[in-house]
Amino acid sequence: MRDNNCIFCKIIAGEIPSKKLFEDDEILAFRDINPVAPVHFLIIPKEHIAVLDDIEERHTALLGKMLFIATKLAREMGIGESGYRQVINCRKSAGQIVFHLHMHIIGGRDMRLMG
Ligand code: AMP
Repeated sequence: MRDNNCIFCKIIAGEIPSKKLFEDDEILAFRDINPVAPVHFLIIPKEHIAVLDDIEERHTALLGKMLFIATKLAREMGIGESGYRQVINCRKSAGQIVFHLHMHIIGGRDMRLMG
């Protein structure tokens, strides 16, 4: 369930501070510490799942809920209409640096030239 060396597991446990935006028994959302746009937050499952490639069929409802909460928070933060990017990096070559599944929500500026 928890990986003691994982920074996001420590955030879930309250051992490392975070700017929380949403929390329930399965999910935590908090602001990214190094935002690449005016709005940049992360949604993570409380269960330690290292990479997207590790998900199982039993996780499908959890992933749907993460996406639903993403849209809800994006609207609350004023980027529902202007638009946003939702990214999950899977493994090192994709740019994943924290090995606890997380969904980035990035918006508040024009990203058409970002690639
Ligand atoms: P990724 O490259 O997809 O693994 O993204 C990891 C993200 O986690 C990066 O955008 C980091 O800025 C962010 N991050 C790392 N440590 C923290 C932290 N303590 N609090 C909030 N965000 C963090």
